[in-house]
Amino acid sequence: MRYLISIVFFLGCFSISAQVDSLRLICKPTTVNHVDPQDLLWMYRQRDTLRHHGAATNLQVSINGQLISLLDSTSLRYLASSQANFPTLDSIYADVLNTETSAFALQKDSLLVQVSKLGWSMHYLQAVRNLQRQQQLNRSGRSQVLLSFHNFNLAADVGLYLRRRYLRRSPRYLRMGQMAKSLGMFWGGDFVGFPDPGHIQRFKNSAALINQYSVLAFEFEKYRDHYEAIYQKNALQVEKVLDTKALLITLNRLKVGKVCACQKAILPIMNLPAEDAARVEVNTDQNWVFIKPYQSNGYYYSLGRWAYETKN
Ligand SMILES: [Zn+2]
Repeated sequence: MRYLISIVFFLGCFSISAQVDSLRLICKPTTVNHVDPQDLLWMYRQRDTLRHHGAATNLQVSINGQLISLLDSTSLRYLASSQANFPTLDSIYADVLNTETSAFALQKDSLLVQVSKLGWSMHYLQAVRNLQRQQQLNRSGRSQVLLSFHNFNLAADVGLYLRRRYLRRSPRYLRMGQMAKSLGMFWGGDFVGFPDPGHIQRFKNSAALINQYSVLAFEFEKYRDHYEAIYQKNALQVEKVLDTKALLITLNRLKVGKVCACQKAILPIMNLPAEDAARVEVNTDQNWVFIKPYQSNGYYYSLGRWAYETKN
């Protein structure tokens, strides 16, 4: 019997670790014969996480010694995002999200009309928000995330008032939330980990947004460490971080098979001109990528492709 219990316990542990592992990707060294300019921007972002971030001023990309001009709209968006300390995501992705921001504006108008019909006073406190403000809110504990729907103009905060006084808490927010949901929006009062009754948004969660607009994965990728930390911190109460889990799984699905810079630096820095520009340089004959942030040292990495980490 005790033997059986240990087997069940062992299998239980195994299934938990297998689940966590499915969230993990590794850059698997492999020969890469062809890269697209976008692959280079993704590899830059891969190194450009919270630990290393800063504007990639004057980012230059080259493939086999040829400087590449980035011309397609997606690359230009990635470039604009990488080259700013606090990119204005709502304007960089305005064309991509135009349908959604317009539909959300209509939903917000309808909500205002409905709430006003109850004789309640309501104002939108904040809709679009810049990244700098978002990060201040995160530091002060007023927001759990570093990237929010507000940054894409797909969320708004509602203030309800009674005799001109702002209501911080009130059962009226529940009613407002029900109305928002009946109009097709998502209500912050339903958030499990960090309920926010004054908040409404266009999408259920970040995973739903990225599933529809995969180009936005590039923005969430920058905060991967942050989302992984949130997930790990709550690994024993996964129900609190289901949205974070869905986000990581979605990001991983989009990354598997894509070109990456494998962790190990393969060559020392040699004879490199001391210049300020940020650079990504790929050599497919020798299978390496050189990545250099702005005003900082660059390193060589061997080329590879993202793969799910599997346990032997
Ligand atoms: Zn909000």
